[in-house]
Amino acid sequence: MANLLVTGGAGFIGANFVHYWRENHADDAVVVLDALTYAGNRENLAGLDSVEFVHGNILDTDLVTSLLRDHKIDTVVHFAAESHVDRSILDPDAFVTTNVLGTHSLLRAARTVWLDSGSGTPHRFHNVSTDEVYGSLGPNDPAFSETTPYAPNSPYSASKAGADHLVRAYHHTFGLDVTTTNCSNNYGPFQFPEKLIPLFLINALNGRNLPIYGDGMNVRDWLHTSDHCRGIEAALQRGTPGEVYNIGGGEEVPNLTVIDEICRSVDAAFAADPSLAARYPDAPAARGVPTNTLKTFVEDRKGHDRRYAIDERKARAEIGYTPARDFAGGLADTLGWYLANEAWWQPMLERAKLGNG
Ligand code: NAD
Repeated sequence: MANLLVTGGAGFIGANFVHYWRENHADDAVVVLDALTYAGNRENLAGLDSVEFVHGNILDTDLVTSLLRDHKIDTVVHFAAESHVDRSILDPDAFVTTNVLGTHSLLRAARTVWLDSGSGTPHRFHNVSTDEVYGSLGPNDPAFSETTPYAPNSPYSASKAGADHLVRAYHHTFGLDVTTTNCSNNYGPFQFPEKLIPLFLINALNGRNLPIYGDGMNVRDWLHTSDHCRGIEAALQRGTPGEVYNIGGGEEVPNLTVIDEICRSVDAAFAADPSLAARYPDAPAARGVPTNTLKTFVEDRKGHDRRYAIDERKARAEIGYTPARDFAGGLADTLGWYLANEAWWQPMLERAKLGNG
């Protein structure tokens, strides 16, 4: 039985992870630490009564130290971050503060409790990072591997790179037992409607434009959150301390293809369920007009990385990770989730006023 502290557990991926862990490791104790920024939502953990929720900031090292001690935490899974690239272009400070200093605060607390006070407890600090630290690929470049040099291009990815380096340094310098996973673009339930898939779906339902950055040919490897959770689980259970594992969904898809697929799925959903036209009268699909008429090309994001691709051979070989979800099926399920959970996303729209992730 393990005692987990999950930082950022009220956010998109963190909440999916807490649900996943509850379903698959019912005997483990789970504490969530989350500051409930605009991206955090207590509702994401609804129904998980056995999970203790602590409203607090990872920058509060004393609080984290007490949580580690009082709850005999042996595993930290660190998701908490400022995560939206567009916001990092507008306000880089918050990204450096939370992602770099916040991660360092957690590492300091972990070092104090797990190493300096000599508790001797077997422990693991798992750092959830991104493939964006590796920079951008050309069309024919090999996919990112764990030995690809770091070349972050946005304040977001630079701050995540800084966090990754600190995690690595705490292993090499102090002997902290750490693992890091660098994953690709996630999608799935509970994703805040500022990111591409939920934003475009909701815009389509409300008859709003679908603002496509540049030529729409930026390529991403889309990872369903359930696969991501399995990848983190594999790293926790079978990962070697100090090692890094790249976790991907196994499919590279240009943004334009993702958007066309969203449009097609919305059209199909309206055709199959006449009640959607009454619920969303402003949707083109409610009048039989194709959703793709909402597509609008807008000025590209500053410094927009062209292509990300994940070489996950190490994760397959060393920790037995393979993605289980294909993109088409995962996207269809995700659209179904958003259609069934308007009560979840409707109140969040006011908080989501930016770009397309
Ligand atoms: P998110 O923005 O949806 O959630 C972040 C959570 O962290 C929120 O609940 C927020 O309240 C909390 N938080 C922020 N600052 C905090 C602080 N100072 N103290 C405590 N809690 C704080 O993010 P996400 O998309 O779920 O991403 C989770 C992690 O995965 C991040 O580290 C992100 O860099 C990484 N990641 C995300 C993606 C993706 O596609 N979303 C891809 C690769 C890596």
